[in-house]
Amino acid sequence: MKINIAYLYPLLLNIYGDRGNIIAFTHRCLWRGIQVEAHEINLGDKIDPEKYDFYFIGGGQDQQQIAVSEEFQKQKQFLVEAAETKAVFLSICGGYQLLGHYYKPHQGDELKGISILDAYTVAGHNRFIGNVTVETNLLAGNVNTLTGFENHSGLTYLEQGTEAIGRIIVGNGNNGKDKTEGARKNNVFGAYLHGSFLPKNPHFTDYLIKLSLERNYGQQELPCLDDKFEWAAHNKAVKRKY
Ligand code: GLN
Repeated sequence: MKINIAYLYPLLLNIYGDRGNIIAFTHRCLWRGIQVEAHEINLGDKIDPEKYDFYFIGGGQDQQQIAVSEEFQKQKQFLVEAAETKAVFLSICGGYQLLGHYYKPHQGDELKGISILDAYTVAGHNRFIGNVTVETNLLAGNVNTLTGFENHSGLTYLEQGTEAIGRIIVGNGNNGKDKTEGARKNNVFGAYLHGSFLPKNPHFTDYLIKLSLERNYGQQELPCLDDKFEWAAHNKAVKRKY
């Protein structure tokens, strides 16, 4: 089995170790004999929606989001097609904001997203910085916490058609008010969880790997791995109270 990864705009959106998500995803595949080919997609590169099973986009500054928002409008039809044909997307923070309808920064124009999540984001007056713990229903039968680190001022609101990935236990999440964190619509996921996110959430990584395989190979069981370091990191993080 093989998974093709598209790493979207790593030269622009790739902050607080977000690249670690690609590394964790790739290694948890390779350790099980699943082949992985990861391609970086940069400005001007045409996206082939048939080719990629897993798309990742990280976070960054408002300035970099302007360039990605413009490029996204050129690539939108391919990304929408990918989402409609069950490719899996994981987006973090600034990237997450642009998978929704728009991000309105403090200054300047609204930055258009690609609307594969029903969500919109407006810059707030405070910055949410700190550890986050979330309780999720997505991982039936598994540990139900997710953990990461947030640093954003954008306030994200979900609309009908898109659910949160979980409920905030520690931290602020989408907007600091409604206790939601992240977004999910079919196979498209967004979260404010830097950290990196996937290395200390091995159960969520495996969930994304399974979904990515499903597109070409149907439902697959993944052999267990020795996760003691990953779980030590996870458990330490969820014990933090702030
Ligand atoms: N510019 C966005 C915000 O502050 C994204 C920040 C990030 O990706 N870390 O809301």
